[in-house]
Amino acid sequence: MRKSLVWLIIIFLSGSLVFAWNRFLLPCEVPLRYSIGSFDGRFGITEEAFRQEIVTAEQVWEQALGKELFVYESDAPFKVSLIFDERQLQTLAGQELEQSLGETKIKQGALTEKNAASVELYQKTLKEYEALLAAFQKRLAEYNAEVAYWNTKGGAPAEEYEQLQSESMTIKKLEKNLETKRRVVNTLADTVNRFSKEQVRVVDQYNTKVEDYVRRYGEPQDFDQGEYVSTMITIYQFDDRAHLRLVLAHELGHALGIGHVDDPSAMMYYKMEQQDPDRLRLTADDRAALAGVCDVSPRNIFRNLSVWYALAMR
Ligand SMILES: [Zn+2]
Repeated sequence: MRKSLVWLIIIFLSGSLVFAWNRFLLPCEVPLRYSIGSFDGRFGITEEAFRQEIVTAEQVWEQALGKELFVYESDAPFKVSLIFDERQLQTLAGQELEQSLGETKIKQGALTEKNAASVELYQKTLKEYEALLAAFQKRLAEYNAEVAYWNTKGGAPAEEYEQLQSESMTIKKLEKNLETKRRVVNTLADTVNRFSKEQVRVVDQYNTKVEDYVRRYGEPQDFDQGEYVSTMITIYQFDDRAHLRLVLAHELGHALGIGHVDDPSAMMYYKMEQQDPDRLRLTADDRAALAGVCDVSPRNIFRNLSVWYALAMR
């Protein structure tokens, strides 16, 4: 029982060793031949475009070394796949959220402008109303004083009486105008209130969306958008083409046998954080790691073996 287990382990290890020797231990001597595995059109790119992005990503490593490291061959056993799952669904939802966030912001801006204009109009009209009211009250007081005066005299002479009658009609007209103006002021006040409430609602809506967005997308992401396991690279998620290239370049680095490095801006850093997706480049750490796996000295080959074993067993 124990003996057969030992044999099983020996067979497994020697099998792995033979398999590993060409591709894994001398990864830079023989180009890695790959083909496209599963491909899902829901990502919104064509298979041809996907292949093109792989070529661009592989060049990052190839240019650093000045030689071919990856070659596309339609029937190669090493597969690069695009698999659609909840990760990309979430990305699409995130992009939708981002767009609606932009729309809310525009709405908010328009509302703020409208609100400012309505407040200004309200204040201007209110001032006019107050001036009108003061003038009216003064005129009414003068009229009342005049009437009171003539009452103490037992009545006004005909000429004065006519003038008072005419003034009384003017005052009534003014009162009517004043009432109209008062209604306008009230309507404007309602508008201001409505806009304010709407503004509060839109701001709340915006803040909720921002919180939601930051909660879901604010943190730097691990490189879990892609995955490398011994004979395949699978991509699960990307935001856009530049992002896809970055994920591919990272996973291709793993396929060469490179592990993660410490520099946060490195291609092989474990998180997607400070790398610039629009300008794929290797940092000193990446280059050192590449030189490390490409070193053909026996000592290094032995070192690579342990790295490979760790990567394969992940
Ligand atoms: Zn990684």
